[in-house]
Amino acid sequence: MHRNIAGSDRELERRRFVAWLLAGGLASPLAASAARDEGSTPGDAGLRNPLLWAVAWKQTAAEFGALCHQAYNVARLRVDMAIAAGRGKGKPAAVITDMDDTIIHAKSYWGYLVNEGLDFFDDALWDRWLPENLVTAVPGALDFLRHCESVGVEVFYVTNRDQGERTYDYALGQLRHLEFPWADEAHLTVYRDTSDKSATREQLAASHDLLLMLGDNLNDYKRDYYVADVDERYALMERDRLEYGVEFVLLPNPTDGHWVRAIFGDSEPAATDDNRRRLREAAARIAWDGR
Ligand SMILES: [Mg+2]
Repeated sequence: MHRNIAGSDRELERRRFVAWLLAGGLASPLAASAARDEGSTPGDAGLRNPLLWAVAWKQTAAEFGALCHQAYNVARLRVDMAIAAGRGKGKPAAVITDMDDTIIHAKSYWGYLVNEGLDFFDDALWDRWLPENLVTAVPGALDFLRHCESVGVEVFYVTNRDQGERTYDYALGQLRHLEFPWADEAHLTVYRDTSDKSATREQLAASHDLLLMLGDNLNDYKRDYYVADVDERYALMERDRLEYGVEFVLLPNPTDGHWVRAIFGDSEPAATDDNRRRLREAAARIAWDGR
């Protein structure tokens, strides 16, 4: 995820203008009139942005924070139970965690997208935002990871990012900036070309007693979930239902991930009207007929 494409102000202006047009900024008189009720100036283009609910939830809901704490409370319980049961006495005990939306949040990136009137994940902006190091720790993450350290459980960070040559330095810098434990090259793996994290999982399972994995994407747990079909992906989830909170602890993320790929066939779908229609179809997958 997140290809490395240099952004430019001109490109941003173009996308902002397109977003304004799509919001009814320059449409037929009837459409323009309908749009004007909600504000049809470029500055108000974002009023019809389909991202607003999900991002507002991420930015404001105490429930979002509580779900994160709930995940980390379960994770801590599992680690403590494993240690109490004698795990990690042969091979050293370890947990594997994803980074984005698992231990770090990118709220100001999403806020910026909304302010720009953009309604799809924007890779070029992500690559401009990331080096600014504006990440924040997910509620509960720091306490949990430090707890792991205090009971001798190693933490391995695995992420999939590409911001060019400095990708690894940016990722390691963020771990250190937020003072996460085990923030060193032996404990951080960055995949630049693939979202498949299986190799690290298999390698660590050979050298360590893996207690738990954490992520915001079921692909962080098993590659099986890298399927572009909503029903198939959902059925896989049901197959593994007894493993959540036991083998894998899931963090909430309503804006991006491979659930998006299941809908669009692409984890980072283009901002087109065809894709907006697909999003609407997905949202109305089960719908009352009103009669
Ligand atoms: Mg993630």
